[in-house]
Amino acid sequence: IRQLTDKRDRILGESYRLFYRNPVHLVKGKGQYLWDAEGRKYLDVYNNVASIGHCHPAVVEAVSQQMQQLNTHTRYLHENILNYTESILATTPAEIDRAIYMCTGSEANDLAIRVAKSFSGGTGIIVTQEAYHGTSELTSGASPALGSGQALAPTTRVVPAPDFYRLTPSDPGQWFAHEIQKQIDDMKQNDIKFAGFLADSIFSSDGVLPNPPGFLKAAIEVVHKNGGIFIADEVQPGFARTGDTFWGFARHGVVPDIITTGKPMGNGIPVSALFAKSDVLASFSDHIPYFNTFGGNPVSMAAAQAVLKVIQEENLQGHSRVMGALLLTELRRLQQKYRCVGDVRGAGLFIGFELVTDPESKQPNKALALDLIERLRDQGILTSVAGPYGNVLKLRPPLAFQAADIDWLVGGLDRALQQLCP
Ligand code: PMP
Repeated sequence: IRQLTDKRDRILGESYRLFYRNPVHLVKGKGQYLWDAEGRKYLDVYNNVASIGHCHPAVVEAVSQQMQQLNTHTRYLHENILNYTESILATTPAEIDRAIYMCTGSEANDLAIRVAKSFSGGTGIIVTQEAYHGTSELTSGASPALGSGQALAPTTRVVPAPDFYRLTPSDPGQWFAHEIQKQIDDMKQNDIKFAGFLADSIFSSDGVLPNPPGFLKAAIEVVHKNGGIFIADEVQPGFARTGDTFWGFARHGVVPDIITTGKPMGNGIPVSALFAKSDVLASFSDHIPYFNTFGGNPVSMAAAQAVLKVIQEENLQGHSRVMGALLLTELRRLQQKYRCVGDVRGAGLFIGFELVTDPESKQPNKALALDLIERLRDQGILTSVAGPYGNVLKLRPPLAFQAADIDWLVGGLDRALQQLCP
């Protein structure tokens, strides 16, 4: 371990960050389980990239078959990209009828912002307080999660996160819509034309804020009324994760103008997409070519097709709903038992477990959250924290998660909380 960390420190860029005081050296994965170099088994409660399970045989098979046959770019004809597009567009609202492929969520959001600008003729983008949308100039300029070292674009405006554990407006939807309207008004006063609202509907980096379902509806009406578009960043909630619906935005009963995806789409193969309404996309595509060397290649598309097939054939959406509800119930038992568990909330297998000093003050307890993930790691349970205060455990396992895994996780949490929060 020491040799590897020393070498990282010597030859990798300093921006890299490791998880854990005592880093984990993983060498193997299967389903929701991982193994380190010493053969120790871990439960993965964090990885939504290996969404259908680490090294899923259907993806391994599809990728190796296609890799042996051909891998090339989208300037030649190929069935894989067309077959996948037909399959995936069958899961989106009917108005969303065009697809473009790339390799990362950042690229998808970057293109989405460019399309929002050409469609609206504006430049102003609204995001939430702790949003993360990517690594490029445009997306990092719309990612307050990167902290004070990364300046936001002068055209980016930030609304408070919909944290209805701490904020208790009488009408959450109207409150959020009003916050959006305030930022659009502020743009107007500064001669910035509004282009769009970019949001991850589970507000993952804001601390996992899925509820109440439907609260986004009024906000999206305000976005449209003001000539902007809604870009649903589905990198986190998409692909059956939230249980109720295949896409996160659908829990809110809204239809986006653009959907962006990434992480879980290829179960680890770098593949991402932008799905859009044709009239919105045309405002960009009619004038500007888009070519992404690796995006949409036959191997990536084979991986994506295999992932979608497994989700549908194994009904992983239903499984996520059932397992997520079970896990929520168990975690709420811990909330009853320990005063430092302030809130437990989630949708499907995407759960936020919020640590506080006491339930009355709701004071965030980041130190406890950090100690807790270390204690969990010692029991072979891998997870991490999210949110503006870094005090929310983000529980987001591969969708293959089973009842026995819930026992492992909840038992581990119980033992750790007994020591840390007596
Ligand atoms: N959007 C969201 C909501 C994300 O969580 C991430 C990655 N954490 C991205 C975009 C960027 O995706 P990528 O790292 O694949 O570029």
